[in-house]
Amino acid sequence: MGWLECQIGRLAAGPGSVMLILSYNKKPHKEHYTGFIMLDDSALAFTPEIAAATDPIYQRLKRVVPAIEWPFHAPLVHAINQLKRRRNAVVLAHNYQTPEIFHGVADIVGDSLALARRASETDAEVIVLAGVHFMAETAKLMNPDKIVLMPDTAAGCSLAASITPEDVRQLRRRWPGVPVVAYVNTSAAVKAEVDICCTSGNAVEVVESLGVPRVIFLPDTYLASYVASQSAVEIIDWQGRCEVHERFTAAEIRSFRAGVAGLTVIAHPECPPEVLAAADFVGSTARMVDFIEQRRPPRVLLLTECSMSDNVAAAVPETEFVRPCNLCPHMKRITLAKILQALRSLEPRIEIDPAIAAPARRAVERMLAIKPRS
Ligand code: SF4
Repeated sequence: MGWLECQIGRLAAGPGSVMLILSYNKKPHKEHYTGFIMLDDSALAFTPEIAAATDPIYQRLKRVVPAIEWPFHAPLVHAINQLKRRRNAVVLAHNYQTPEIFHGVADIVGDSLALARRASETDAEVIVLAGVHFMAETAKLMNPDKIVLMPDTAAGCSLAASITPEDVRQLRRRWPGVPVVAYVNTSAAVKAEVDICCTSGNAVEVVESLGVPRVIFLPDTYLASYVASQSAVEIIDWQGRCEVHERFTAAEIRSFRAGVAGLTVIAHPECPPEVLAAADFVGSTARMVDFIEQRRPPRVLLLTECSMSDNVAAAVPETEFVRPCNLCPHMKRITLAKILQALRSLEPRIEIDPAIAAPARRAVERMLAIKPRS
């Protein structure tokens, strides 16, 4: 765990243009992420008109976005929201996106399951995916005839990178006849090799829907272990891990509990088993939000990606969030400036080989056909 320093800089870069610099310092691990992008300056001044137009958005964000930062975000937020209308576009944002994206420009927000479901329902002609690459691929699978934009194609995922299509074929040879369940945090090429997908929100339901005594579950070994603890189905796992959630430890939870009275600890099932055992509640990001909105605990420690606490804090002001900060470097590649650039150029687009898309889509659709448990 650690803390975060965030800086936004704005440099003149020539007549009529500006270079925006976004920099995160994650301490104490000294991780540093910097993104910059050149944009036409003409629409990006913080004028009184833009201040007034974006003030309702800022009122929702002011608990988590300092006033000194807003003049840098507001012109981008305003330009994106105007351009979305002209392009008939929607922005889908994962719960781990920064608050100015999540609350400022997103039309649809949620976890991987919610984004997959809502991506299949939108009438927009253009979808901008503020998340990581596998999420944009899933949106394209659900909308093969629409333009799906990925503001930074290098935004990957350690889980998706942990397994290849050939790995799945080898698992099938080793365990003939055993169905394969893949977490959506996999590439479209891997999804094309599996029987059905799942998310952290429906993994147990998906595994049990198959009606078999044993399944191969990939790629997250910790989510596999959580599913095994909730079901009688035998789970054969793969050794993938989320580089963000695997860093949490039970010792850190004990330390936070000792320092903060009445703390409710909520953990994502991608965390190690010792962390889940020490938590008060375990659930997907959507179930975390439901839990907090229904119970309104006074003090919460959310063991998931750093921005999630900010996004929930903006919506549930009476709950105080203790803020460990494990950042996902892939999610943080997405910025307002890159979203605006993608909408202006309608690039980079996600394209999937039809031979991969058809079986991958079937695996996602099988998951979406499973009714959630009440
Ligand atoms: S938080 Fe973990 S699972 Fe989510 S995108 Fe980042 S690396 Fe992947």
